[in-house]
Amino acid sequence: MARKKRSKQENKQTFGMLLQLYPNAEQETKMMKTFGCRRFIYNLFLDQRSKGWKRRKESISFKQQKDMLPELKKRIPFLAEVDAMGLQETVKDLDDAYQNFFEGKAKYPRFKRKRDEQSYTTNQTNNNIRFTNDRFTLIQLPKLGEVKCEGSFVRLRRLLKNKGAVIKAATIRRKGGKYFVSLRVQKEAKPAKVPVAKRRAIGIDVGIKTFAVLSDGNPVPNPHYFSEAQQQLRKQQKRLSRMIKGSNNYIKQKKKVAKIHAKIANQRKDFQHKKSKKLTDENQILCIEDLNVRGMVKNRKLAKHIADAAWYQFRNFLTYKAERKGRTLVIVDRFYASSKICSHCDKKKEGLTLDERTWVCLSCGKKHGRDENAALNLEKEGLRILGA
Ligand SMILES: [Zn+2]
Repeated sequence: MARKKRSKQENKQTFGMLLQLYPNAEQETKMMKTFGCRRFIYNLFLDQRSKGWKRRKESISFKQQKDMLPELKKRIPFLAEVDAMGLQETVKDLDDAYQNFFEGKAKYPRFKRKRDEQSYTTNQTNNNIRFTNDRFTLIQLPKLGEVKCEGSFVRLRRLLKNKGAVIKAATIRRKGGKYFVSLRVQKEAKPAKVPVAKRRAIGIDVGIKTFAVLSDGNPVPNPHYFSEAQQQLRKQQKRLSRMIKGSNNYIKQKKKVAKIHAKIANQRKDFQHKKSKKLTDENQILCIEDLNVRGMVKNRKLAKHIADAAWYQFRNFLTYKAERKGRTLVIVDRFYASSKICSHCDKKKEGLTLDERTWVCLSCGKKHGRDENAALNLEKEGLRILGA
């Protein structure tokens, strides 16, 4: 349940830890109120920003909106009842949504509806987020008091007690009628023990059917449980499509489908963590093809979309792991024709179609496996870019 992330600050390591919460009735009411206030603030400020721009061509900044909060609380008393930090974070979330829009990474922010995910984030100040017993089954949260919780504590305890890590923030979430908190835990990073690289450089050609082919000739197959889960997903989705929208069975089935989606995502993450670890352990220079992120967001075909998202995630894993271990990751331009160039004599093969899995170079007579040849070219091109 732990997710490790390299934070932007130097020498800090951030972990995400997820726990289930068991609030009492009063705490539950308070959480619901906070979700409501968060939605209220988000929508109010979104409306304000949109109108400000449309009517007066005026851009309202994050700081301006944040500074409006105290006044709003005076005018609207129920806002003062909930976690103040939670509201401030909401203003920041809205600003992030705008930044993503400006950078072309997301659509224009939408109004939040009650049926959207309900959550809020609160930050650590004066030790107001902490475990209050040794067993870590009670957590103190701002405005809520001690809430019962459950999760895998072994790692968390080790981090907080032995490694001097601290809780920086908590996101409280309601999902499927259950409550969760994910804690952002941060510790000073000790220099990672980096194994000596076995190989100087490797090219990684990522595919769909085979997860990747490496320039050392080894394929990295997708684990078989991927296709099992995909089949299961298709079956359950088909069932869903035959149901009457909004009916009880439909809602039940929809949850089932969402659960399979989540399972697949977790399996994939786990798999990619293992593979990116191995690759960055064993190689000094890693060369991978670039990916068109903008195209990815716009792609409507689901299978392709998922494959692209997976690829992007894998690249992120490689990026931060390489950085941590002092390895070099080279991103090769996606217009570089890695599949069509002969890795032996550099002549380009014209008219190579997608279904030709093997081909023979007309210039030097070398027989190529399509993906292995591409991986070899990525390695060569990566080294060329580095000037090595
Ligand atoms: Zn050739």
